[in-house]
Amino acid sequence: MSVKVRFAPSPTGIPHVGNIRTALFNYFFAKANNGVFILRIEDTDQARKIEEAQGAIKESLLWLGVAWDEYIIQSERVPEYKKYALELVEKRLAREDSGAIRFIVPKEGKTSWQDAVGGKKIEFKNSEIEDFIILKSDGFPTYHLANVVDDYTEKISHVIRGEDWIPSTPKHILLYKAFDWEADMPIFAHVPNVLETDRKKLSKRRGAKSVLDFKNEGFLPEALLNYLMLLGWSPKDDREILPRKDFEHEFKLENINTAPAIFDERKLLWMNGEYIRKSQISKLKSQILEFDPTVSSIPNFEKYIPLAQTRMKTLGDFRDLVERNEGVILNTKQRKLAEKLKEKYLKISNLEWNAASISNATIAVRDTLGVSTKDIYEVLTGSPQGLPFEEKLEIQGRSDTISGLEAIIKNKNK
Ligand code: GLU
Repeated sequence: MSVKVRFAPSPTGIPHVGNIRTALFNYFFAKANNGVFILRIEDTDQARKIEEAQGAIKESLLWLGVAWDEYIIQSERVPEYKKYALELVEKRLAREDSGAIRFIVPKEGKTSWQDAVGGKKIEFKNSEIEDFIILKSDGFPTYHLANVVDDYTEKISHVIRGEDWIPSTPKHILLYKAFDWEADMPIFAHVPNVLETDRKKLSKRRGAKSVLDFKNEGFLPEALLNYLMLLGWSPKDDREILPRKDFEHEFKLENINTAPAIFDERKLLWMNGEYIRKSQISKLKSQILEFDPTVSSIPNFEKYIPLAQTRMKTLGDFRDLVERNEGVILNTKQRKLAEKLKEKYLKISNLEWNAASISNATIAVRDTLGVSTKDIYEVLTGSPQGLPFEEKLEIQGRSDTISGLEAIIKNKNK
């Protein structure tokens, strides 16, 4: 069977990471099976349409490196759906109801399918399904009709979507039967929800973040992609950091978990740090610059990258780690320390200014004054912890270090 799948968001809001996770499952399922991945904008509910949603959906996917083979906008096909609705009226399988068209659900029997997630049979009694609208009085199709007509005409082989859509599936199957399309019915795979750590459903209303929010917070697309792929799916072994090609080769519907997945931002943060450490310096440099072009004005900023790379969790951490906070107000002990350090550093020549000599000088001062490493950090960097100070100061240079010390010593005097 040739694989053709679709991600079919309704542009009613900016998609959150759980929605995009479903897009990724579709995309990698297509990749793993040499199939086709369609992006279909289901915008037939004109009243709920939000202008910026369509752009945000595309931008989110492209940032993650997910490109679609075909792009379809349902609102451009409105007359088409109407034809199909009228066909059912003609067959007496649908009826007109104050300008709208309702599908007539058979009162007897059951509708069931074998879901590809978990392999279980899911069954609904037809008597529990009400006659549902397929074409509204404004001439626009409802989700059910447009979704089924498109899945059929586009020859979708697998419908991979969130489990929230399970109650809609019997309606879709009944439509396939009514149109005599049963032989071409796709395989349904309903993916468990993504939950917050409090086990409540990830939802835009509760502030669930979008892919673009994470982009703006300094996450790497490859890290977010990796993290999202493991929400409800896992490879056979316990690997957590997987290169993209592994998803392309290994993604299988059978390995989707039946239990809901928990979105744990701390884990994502950890993973982002791992990706930052794996990144090549030149690539990390362009990612840091793209995230915050103004870091280029930090003197020697490039030299800090290998050093900062070991400590960063997000791209935004670079500036925090590298920039000296000169606003810090020193206590008496720290002020004394700053003066002593300045004195000692002045004795190191420009040529001798390196991590080893800086370390020796600093340790000598620490031991004489009996201060803590935290004090040293605070005085030298303006924060209680950070990059190894001797290497940081070597890059920063002798004169900047000394003028920095002078600046914070003055703070106290104000
Ligand atoms: N338009 C639906 C949504 O917003 C599509 C569900 C489906 O994939 O069938 O999620």
